[in-house]
Amino acid sequence: MSAQHFDVIVIGQGVAGLSAAKQARQLGASVACIEEQMFGGLVININELDGAIEGSGTDLASNLMLEASEAGVEMLSECVTGIDAAGGRLIVSTDQGSHNAAAVIIASGAKLRKLGVPGEAEFEYRGVASCADCDGPMYQGADVVVAGAGDSALQEALVLAQFCRQVHLLHHGKELTARAHLIDAVRACPNITELSPYEVTAIRGDKGVDHVDVVNCNDRSTMEIACTGIFAYIGLEPTSGFAPESVKDASSGLIVVDASLQTAIPGLYAAGAVRAGYGGMLENAIADGEAAAQAAVARARANA
Ligand SMILES: Cc1cc2nc3c(=O)[nH]c(=O)nc-3n(C[C@H](O)[C@H](O)[C@H](O)COP(=O)(O)OP(=O)(O)OC[C@H]3O[C@@H](n4cnc5c(N)ncnc54)[C@H](O)[C@@H]3O)c2cc1C
Repeated sequence: MSAQHFDVIVIGQGVAGLSAAKQARQLGASVACIEEQMFGGLVININELDGAIEGSGTDLASNLMLEASEAGVEMLSECVTGIDAAGGRLIVSTDQGSHNAAAVIIASGAKLRKLGVPGEAEFEYRGVASCADCDGPMYQGADVVVAGAGDSALQEALVLAQFCRQVHLLHHGKELTARAHLIDAVRACPNITELSPYEVTAIRGDKGVDHVDVVNCNDRSTMEIACTGIFAYIGLEPTSGFAPESVKDASSGLIVVDASLQTAIPGLYAAGAVRAGYGGMLENAIADGEAAAQAAVARARANA
């Protein structure tokens, strides 16, 4: 495939990427938005959003995709593998070729962190799950474990509680770290029990999961929790493997940006969950995308 030239390339069709691409196009730039999977990112399967942006994640992402497409953004289904600077332009390499632009916005988001325990890979899709709205109905009347103490863990535990007999909410700290209204809702839910401070050490079963082994973080005593499903929401890892090492924080992999969302490489910006200092909510993803688009278009114009 021959290289394509754009004013702005956006990497990722999550909420930050689609917001950035739409805004850059509305400002008059030629824009490509590249996605390796389905559009929508982390919220695509969330039925009921919590926070300033309400409704379903599917509707939010679909509307953004429609608006960006109608604005004239070129949508490319490719996996980005690298970014290099050459001759005042940025070259974006993908599994299908390369494209270049005056400015690039990395909006490649994040993935749910794995527990990293025995059985997790073996039982994936056979009891190890991560989408309460998609998989919850399969656990009708069952006992499940949710690992995590933050917003996502509590939000998903509340979804699972609508289907399951019992949801064991397990976390290793002293306190839940989610927002107060989610903690109140969980504590008022009769079939969610909180277990702390515990960590999952293994996921066991035969054809599917039948229990998890856990350890008490204080006295190291162990026990088994009978369950047929385990859902882990223990944080996010940035999807930044393709980005130059010089723009990443070495320990976290998050992209480091200045106040204008520009990285240490001129013309290379980052927005949303992939960047250090991201606010964590969808309104932050939208604001990031729009701010990065304005800076990227100004840069592209200055270099034209
Ligand atoms: C379980 C859960 C529930 C949540 N619920 C809420 C909520 O109710 N309300 C709220 O405000 N926030 C919620 N959040 C947070 C919110 O989802 C995120 O802050 C937001 O979606 C981040 O958007 P993003 O566009 O930065 O990243 P992402 O959504 O991760 O999108 C990044 C996109 O980039 C693509 N990509 C990655 N690498 C490449 C590559 N190499 N090439 C091409 N494409 C690539 C990915 O496939 C993905 O589509 C929730 C998060 C989780 C995990």
